[in-house]
Amino acid sequence: MAIKARVRVVALFLLVLFLAPVVNLTRFQVLRSEALLARPDNTRTLEDLSLRGSLLDRAGQPLAQTRQGRRVHPLGPVTGPLLGYLTGRLGAAGLEASLEARTVGYAIPRTPMQAWSLLTRGDRHGDDVVLTLDRGLQTLAWELLEGARGAALVLDIPSGEILAVASRPSFDPARLEADWERLRVDPSAPLIERGTQGLYPPGSTFKILTMAGALADGRTRSDEVFVCTGSMDAGNFILHDNAVHGRVDLKEALVVSCNVTFATLGQRLEVSGLRRWMDGFGLLEAPALVPNAAEAQPMQPGAPSVAAEAGIGQADLLVSPLGMARVCATLARGGIDLEPRLVRAQTRRGQVTWRPAAPRPRRVLPEAVAGEVRRAMEEAVARGTGGRAAVPGVAVAGKTGTAENPHGEPHAWFVGYAPAEAPKVAVAVLLENSGGGGLHAAPLASRLLQAALSR
Ligand SMILES: [Zn+2]
Repeated sequence: MAIKARVRVVALFLLVLFLAPVVNLTRFQVLRSEALLARPDNTRTLEDLSLRGSLLDRAGQPLAQTRQGRRVHPLGPVTGPLLGYLTGRLGAAGLEASLEARTVGYAIPRTPMQAWSLLTRGDRHGDDVVLTLDRGLQTLAWELLEGARGAALVLDIPSGEILAVASRPSFDPARLEADWERLRVDPSAPLIERGTQGLYPPGSTFKILTMAGALADGRTRSDEVFVCTGSMDAGNFILHDNAVHGRVDLKEALVVSCNVTFATLGQRLEVSGLRRWMDGFGLLEAPALVPNAAEAQPMQPGAPSVAAEAGIGQADLLVSPLGMARVCATLARGGIDLEPRLVRAQTRRGQVTWRPAAPRPRRVLPEAVAGEVRRAMEEAVARGTGGRAAVPGVAVAGKTGTAENPHGEPHAWFVGYAPAEAPKVAVAVLLENSGGGGLHAAPLASRLLQAALSR
């Protein structure tokens, strides 16, 4: 009894010892945080930042690290809105914020979890996080977007890893605090990462999903012939095509991007069927290993024309460039989805301390159906609307899009993969308000694919 009582006293004493600093720190931090942050000698921030782990590219080169108490981003605007920022005055955003639990270091543990973490690893420094990004491709993707607003993304098909995701406009992280007032109100939204968080009408790039879904559901066959008169009754208005395509079979319809054909397939699938296929391709859930990614927004049932419009990627559905690259990669794998990822591992002095489980392959649609869509995507680049995405000596498969939107000129899209016969990389290029996808987005995709294949 005496021993038990003594143990209890000691335990209580330890608890009080532990609670006292917690209570004090909470009071200090929570109640006085505003005043503290405003002080130029805010040592808490400096101290914590110096213990922060780095963000590394797939080769282990730093993309974000702390130098003399300041967070620096060696690639500057090339990784601007993706990495975000971490400053004493403005707080954290982007991957710097989302990966904080892995990279944060503790000078003084402030919660039992932090105390435990400090005890078990015996080091005050935070871990490093290795991203899937390839520095060279990331830089090229950024350069290709010069003068544009939009995003360019490269996905590694065998692993589902994001090799590059560039977004313009961007900001210079070294000048963030000085430029803050301007950046904050800039209508072109330079603080938003567009490749994984930007949601856009997919326009005709969505026809690859409509085609796959309609084939898999038995709503059409590859030898069905459609008659395009250049317009059709969509229910409550006349839907116009970009040309009078005459008699076209299903493959030819994708090659020439016939609106009448795919609006008809949209009507056959109905809103519920299209939505089910968006879900089937994994678009309605954000991938867990791409922090901050935005899930697609499916079309809402309503006017009679919604299914027809959605079949050609219009109506009110919205998809990110990452989402469309994921659809391409699934088709390229013969109908198998791998959840995309941006985080490779957590390391400490080069040793892996955590690695996510390998992605689980998931069959989305029969291989034969994926094959039909793939052959049409190949011809769309070989002799159709995607010609400018061609790469010398390599067969490219892809689809253009010219997406109407309420914000001005159409958005230009290209999504695709290469080599067509043994796919390695998928790309998505989106240029806001830039007009035709075949004319403007496809040439950038060609350059990106070429570089990605020769890396
Ligand atoms: Zn047509």
